[in-house]
Amino acid sequence: QKPVPSDMEISRSCVPKPMDRLAREVGLLMDELELYGKAKAKVQLNVIKRLREQPDGKYVVVTGITPTPLGEGKSTTTVGLVQALGAHMKLNVFACVRQPSQGPTFGIKGGAAGGGYSQVIPMEEFNLHLTGDIHAITAANNLVAAAIDARMFHEATQTDKALYNRLVPLSGGQRTFAPIQINRLKKLGIEKTDPTTLTEEEITRFARLDMDPDSVTWNRVVDTNDRFLRKTTIGQSPTEKGHSREAQFSITVASEIMAVLALTSSLQDMRQRLAKMVVATSRSGHPVTTEDLGVSGALTVLMRDAIKPNLMQTLEGTPVFVHAGPFANIAHGNSSILADKIALKLVGPEGFVVTEAGFGADIGMEKFFNIKCRYSGLRPHVVVLVATVRALKMHGGGPTVTAGMPLPKEYVEENLELLEKGCSNLRKQVENARHFGVPVVVAVNAFKTDTEAELDLICSLAKAAGAFDAVRCSHWAEGGAGAVALGQAVQRASEAPSDFKFLYDVELPIADKIRVIAQKIYGADDIELLPDAKHKVALYTQQGFGNLPICMAKTHLSLSHEADKKGVPTGFVLPIRDIRASVGAGFLYPLVGTMPTIPGLPTRPCFYDIDLDPETEQVNGLF
Ligand code: ADP
Repeated sequence: QKPVPSDMEISRSCVPKPMDRLAREVGLLMDELELYGKAKAKVQLNVIKRLREQPDGKYVVVTGITPTPLGEGKSTTTVGLVQALGAHMKLNVFACVRQPSQGPTFGIKGGAAGGGYSQVIPMEEFNLHLTGDIHAITAANNLVAAAIDARMFHEATQTDKALYNRLVPLSGGQRTFAPIQINRLKKLGIEKTDPTTLTEEEITRFARLDMDPDSVTWNRVVDTNDRFLRKTTIGQSPTEKGHSREAQFSITVASEIMAVLALTSSLQDMRQRLAKMVVATSRSGHPVTTEDLGVSGALTVLMRDAIKPNLMQTLEGTPVFVHAGPFANIAHGNSSILADKIALKLVGPEGFVVTEAGFGADIGMEKFFNIKCRYSGLRPHVVVLVATVRALKMHGGGPTVTAGMPLPKEYVEENLELLEKGCSNLRKQVENARHFGVPVVVAVNAFKTDTEAELDLICSLAKAAGAFDAVRCSHWAEGGAGAVALGQAVQRASEAPSDFKFLYDVELPIADKIRVIAQKIYGADDIELLPDAKHKVALYTQQGFGNLPICMAKTHLSLSHEADKKGVPTGFVLPIRDIRASVGAGFLYPLVGTMPTIPGLPTRPCFYDIDLDPETEQVNGLF
């Protein structure tokens, strides 16, 4: 076998086809396209209206077994599969993937454009700014943060009357409410539009959000792995008159606005979600929202381009939507509903849309079904579950696998015993997918050190575990040609009967929903709500958020809450430390253990290798 060049070399050796040609091929009108350079374009949402009578294509979600920290090839398989279906089997296809955060791009190696001969190109544009969606989210998120602290400051330093006069200033001798202020008055039950008619009590209620500084849940964000922002003190200049407080930063992809972008279904729906985000609790116990802060219209303006999916292509010229990239632990880790919806219309009834769910099936797939599909109303036809020999050997008791270190010998030599033992994890993840009533095709992503006997063993054990089919694939080394068997299996599975069902009813009490996920998907005996979590269950139930779906924030490296427990852990109780609410995005997220929301840089970050060639203007050193 020929050695496979680096991802960067492969990506650069392929010239993307012009966007107007790609757009024509996929059935988009030039009017619906907004070009960003030569190889990227945004697609306007009105295409959904134009194609509303068109039946949807087949919907395929790619997930995986519990991975090693290296990743087992979900992105690579998503791309390889669409290359097989599109370029080799000549079907209409679309891949829908997430935009990666720039934090890891400069920190620990590993892009998200796929790898080898299955990549989205140009990979440097994909992995860097793309069309600026993440920057727009940073701007929007931090506008909310600034609004919160400024408002607390103004409320603390002014009387009710002075505050009111500034909130509703005199202009041309008259005071008038901004439309967003009238919304707030309505929410308070004050049906008045003339600012001069409010009573003193109404003025106080209107002017004071009265946020408890200790209850602020909204963090500032940057899209950089900057660990020193995990805990900060803000407001230390004398101009803030002692109103300093401890605050945290998260990485931009962890912002609720990113989750809103991923789950929204239209501009109007995004405006509503951006208004409902809860940022703090008032001293009297009421949730304070972005609409109360008066900022939701401005957020919608900042996000108006970001809402349009980004069109790119694979190495083999098949279309890709890159859109949204919510963090897969504290958010749901799936690309956008809008991209999937537009793609399903564009491919038509015989075509396929392949979308990727982050992490293993216990996390990304569970959230794909219970959160994303619940909001989109879309029903997938097939689950593709990616497995690798190396990860299954790790589950069988193989030594620890560490990013950046050579693999121990167990992983590069045949070891059927270790592999068979580790297939317990594959069996459990197949069962997890089957809970939702959708046929499962196991894709065994082959590495060059895997042996025939090892690959065959996984396929036969996967079928015995209830998979519709299990096929080995070599798309990383061979491109779409290496995933044709997978494409054919997916096509057959898409015609098999399926009986989709959610795992839980959203109307169940919060703790019961968490328990269903813990027991059925993770294999826990029970859950334990720690004091903060108990308090939040009571608070959110009382505030009316009890009927939101659940987005578990749990390690992806084990089915349990302990990353070092491999295979299928049993006999454990899942501790729920705390629960947070993303009311605009539309889920509650229980924290299982501690979840860092901003990664750090390693001692030798990969920015050491990255530079620009001034002659060719090419980026060097990116993966
Ligand atoms: P995931 O999406 O599951 O995190 P990726 O598709 O990003 O995984 O793959 C993780 C890394 O492994 C990437 O650098 C990718 O190029 C590499 N990779 C994937 N499949 C193979 C393979 N079969 N052989 C060698 N490297 C692979």
